[in-house]
Amino acid sequence: MTDAVLMVPTHADLAEAVLRESGQDVNLCYQCGKCAAGCPVSYAMDYSPFQLIHATRLGLDDLVLNSKTIWLCASCETCTTRCPQDVDIAGVMDTVKTIVLRRRVKPTVPRVAAFYQAALGSIRLHGRLFELGMIVGLKRRTRELFKDTGLGMRMLRKGKLKLFPSFSGARTARKIFDRVRKLENQRARGASGEGDRK
Ligand code: SF4
Ligand code: SF4
Repeated sequence: MTDAVLMVPTHADLAEAVLRESGQDVNLCYQCGKCAAGCPVSYAMDYSPFQLIHATRLGLDDLVLNSKTIWLCASCETCTTRCPQDVDIAGVMDTVKTIVLRRRVKPTVPRVAAFYQAALGSIRLHGRLFELGMIVGLKRRTRELFKDTGLGMRMLRKGKLKLFPSFSGARTARKIFDRVRKLENQRARGASGEGDRK
């Protein structure tokens, strides 16, 4: 009788990039499923958190990079807290999102990607989140210019949205963003030869 041989690539490109950029080793996962059991949004994901970690180990990079799961993850860190192997699954999700954007893969849930980009753009510009500016940025990116305008007007009338931004802390925020970008570029260049994020 011939023994079955399971061919598992041990040097998957994405798994290595995740390890390099976040320090998280997905190969520590032993598929107990605790992460998925506690995940509040796993019902909406195309692959549960432990399936996504496993696919990363197996070198199924395209599947992971094109999954909805990474965009639907709410970064609540329940999975990270529950993992008996101390894998920071939420951190892996964040890292994969960064890699998707850097490799210019089209985000599978574009609205969520647009939300992240609009929110980060606002924080970088103002030093904190300026909601109205973020909403305008989001609408520009999603081209849903008139969606929820009634709700927006009601929030403005009730004083829930500020009309004018504050710029206190903007300079510090910009320095932090520039430093993070430099570090990300250095790490990304590290061993993969991927291009810098411009
Ligand atoms: S961080 Fe993301 S994957 Fe983990 S439990 Fe929360 S929503 Fe689910
Ligand atoms: S909780 Fe940790 S060890 Fe268990 S399946 Fe999830 S990532 Fe793997």
